[in-house]
Amino acid sequence: MGIAISPFQIDPRVADYIDKPRKMLINGKWVNAASGKTFPSYNPATGEVLAQVAEADREDINQAVKAARKAFDQGPWRRMTASERGRLVWKLADLLDKNIEEFAYLESLDNGKPLTIAKAADVPLTVDLFRYMAGWATKIEGNTIPISVPYTPGAKYLAYTLKEPVGVVGQIIPWNFPLLMAAWKLGPALATGCTVVLKPAEQTPLSALRLGELIMEAGFPDGVVNIVPGYGETAGAALAAHPDVDKIAFTGSTEVGKLIVHAATGNLKKVSLELGGKSPNVVFKDADLDAAIPGSASAIFFNHGQCCCAGSRLYVEKPIFDRVVEGVAEHAKKIKVGAGLDPETQMGPLVSEEQLNRVCSYLESGFSQGATALSGGHKAADKGYFVEPTVLVNTREDMKVVQEEIFGPVVTAMPFEDPEEIVLRSNDSDYGLAAAVWTRDISKAHRMAEHLRAGTVWINCYNIFDAALPFGGYKQSGWGREMGHDVLQLYTQTKAVCTRLA
Ligand code: NAP
Ligand code: MG
Repeated sequence: MGIAISPFQIDPRVADYIDKPRKMLINGKWVNAASGKTFPSYNPATGEVLAQVAEADREDINQAVKAARKAFDQGPWRRMTASERGRLVWKLADLLDKNIEEFAYLESLDNGKPLTIAKAADVPLTVDLFRYMAGWATKIEGNTIPISVPYTPGAKYLAYTLKEPVGVVGQIIPWNFPLLMAAWKLGPALATGCTVVLKPAEQTPLSALRLGELIMEAGFPDGVVNIVPGYGETAGAALAAHPDVDKIAFTGSTEVGKLIVHAATGNLKKVSLELGGKSPNVVFKDADLDAAIPGSASAIFFNHGQCCCAGSRLYVEKPIFDRVVEGVAEHAKKIKVGAGLDPETQMGPLVSEEQLNRVCSYLESGFSQGATALSGGHKAADKGYFVEPTVLVNTREDMKVVQEEIFGPVVTAMPFEDPEEIVLRSNDSDYGLAAAVWTRDISKAHRMAEHLRAGTVWINCYNIFDAALPFGGYKQSGWGREMGHDVLQLYTQTKAVCTRLA
């Protein structure tokens, strides 16, 4: 308790933007929902309504898919050269670059994250992602393939492959990095020449809608990008099941990921999934503790633990266990928790009341099973959705807090003795999104990297992201990879063309 949430004057540009109900973007026009309904987006620092947003439902999804289908099948988009497409994506990056302050502000207000972080990480990473993908537009190439065909002796062929856009893509994103998640999805879709219907999370629709304005300003043809805010059970489900959507790309919980897979069976649309995690962060006794201790704190507390790759299972080699967990707890106690707009704030509120209740119920479950808190352990204010940064010890592998994704600032710390055993314990999870190893022994580090079943392994660092680095999960953490050139596979399909020459 005891967080003072000082009243902040909302920046007039943003105040103006959220003053009137925000419309959705369909076929290049800003429109109300067919039903006329709107839904509220809340300010997580106060729990008060921040803005009203048009609420997409099945009918709006139908209209948006129709527009995307037309733009893909008949519009100028398909006739554009790869270079023209790349330049549009680059222009979008430039427009965003000019408006970093405004976007960071909007993101902080809607999601709760510190403004300083949104300004230093979320928005610049988004700009960089669009620039990286803009460069790919002109480099998506097929092959020429020498073929032998044993049953046509003496014949000559010219065979080659084309990499074609997969078509109309439905994209459903979460609330933890609202703008960046929109870019991870839109960037490769636009670079490859797909058209898009994007559904932002109900908790954080504002930055994606504002991005829609820049998309139109950049000059993308009508219908190439449609943005339809609404609820998952209605708008999201309608998009995932839609027969005219060729591919669905989803980021969110593993539970909803499975619903998406079922919904996609109607027309067997392609599916890519970036889902949850319960990532092991392993500190060996030979690690540089000046790096490993703050690194392990940041692994879990960055973005208030609301990261799919959060280092939420901290494993420390026994001789240094007390020193490391006490060090991480000291960091936790010093974190300045407050409203995102406060320049002093290092950790903001969780995104919603639902997440607050979810995280608090995990804390209760941990305590009831015998865990104790070295720091935190409670809700952190009467108003808003704040939780204290928490380090849990006396935990066991069979506890819910160790097995399940909490998605909040809560780390479970456990000692280990044997490097062979720690590989098994690290991998003993339904998830496989990320893992980290802290050691000065380069051979040990790379042996661990080989054996850890995770889509990303960080060595002596954590939460390092780059548009060029593929990101995604093993096991139930997902299908496919975001970013890097890997993601282009998910938005293209290969056509083999074979010509008989002689
Ligand atoms: P979620 O339900 O999986 O939401 C992710 C996205 O899916 C949102 O846009 C959501 O819409 C949409 N959605 C929900 N139900 C759907 C359905 N039946 N069909 C199609 N789309 C649907 O996640 P959440 O409820 O916000 O958070 C719950 C937990 O998910 C978290 O505690 C965390 O464990 C995990 N999570 C993981 C990530 C990640 O990056 N991997 C991100 C966020 C959350 P609405 O916004 O309307 O719900
Ligand atoms: Mg909000």
